[in-house]
Amino acid sequence: MVDAIRAKKSLGQNFLRDPHYLRKIADAAGIGPGDQVLEIGPGFGHLTRVLAERAGAVLALEIDERLLPHLQREFGASPNVEIVHADALDYPYESLPGKWKVVANLPYYISTPIIQKLILHRDRFQSLTIMLQKEVAERIAAPPGGKEYGFLSVLVQLYALSRVLFNVPPGAFTPRPKVDSSVMTLLMRDRPAVSVEDENFFMVVVKAAFSQRRKTLRNSLKQLGAGKEKMESVPGTTGVDLGRRAETLSLEEFGRLAAFLHP
Ligand code: SAM
Repeated sequence: MVDAIRAKKSLGQNFLRDPHYLRKIADAAGIGPGDQVLEIGPGFGHLTRVLAERAGAVLALEIDERLLPHLQREFGASPNVEIVHADALDYPYESLPGKWKVVANLPYYISTPIIQKLILHRDRFQSLTIMLQKEVAERIAAPPGGKEYGFLSVLVQLYALSRVLFNVPPGAFTPRPKVDSSVMTLLMRDRPAVSVEDENFFMVVVKAAFSQRRKTLRNSLKQLGAGKEKMESVPGTTGVDLGRRAETLSLEEFGRLAAFLHP
């Protein structure tokens, strides 16, 4: 029955069955009986099973209705597991009671928007322990100065402490993904890494700066419409030379830039 369901590439279905890695992910998330766990994309429920054995409660969101009868059979008798047929991009996370740990082998085709959505609802989450395409994990954790560092790095690092933990080889999945995978944790910070008065505007500045990453800040920030005079006083006031490129700026420097350019 289960094997009759063919993995859908379009839903990022690469199932992880290897018990060694399933345990390693749950270990990394530090799940205990006091935890509420949100799993995105339970698939056939292999990771869900390990989480359910450790957590107080598991809520799993699965978009593929073909998998639901199997998941209901598997977890129907588990009082601490709730399976919900939902799109993780549309789920009303604000309705979740208390704090949650997210643990997921994410569907790679939408891992970035899912992370952005979870960050938006960060007050609900203690940590995210997620499997991602290796390159995306590296981009998230990248320090300033390299080509991996970008909008996603700044967004996540502003709100979370990020760490790439270990790699998982393609052979651990069925079907094998064409890319390498890494597990990373994002520990939500109590407050943003740099003090930012208007977080939305901060992200507007970061987005503009990276929108043309080969160009200097002088060019890429033009779209903010700050005016020539104000732009000319940026270096003196913020210490940020407009001849630099976005990828060289620390979070603190973006913070100073945003504070000064705030309309
Ligand atoms: N957790 C399972 C495992 O480790 O074997 C499955 C992981 S598989 C990489 C991704 C899962 O996410 C699939 O079950 C897929 O159907 C589900 N999925 C894809 N898009 C989704 C979405 N927008 N919302 C919720 N689940 C989604």
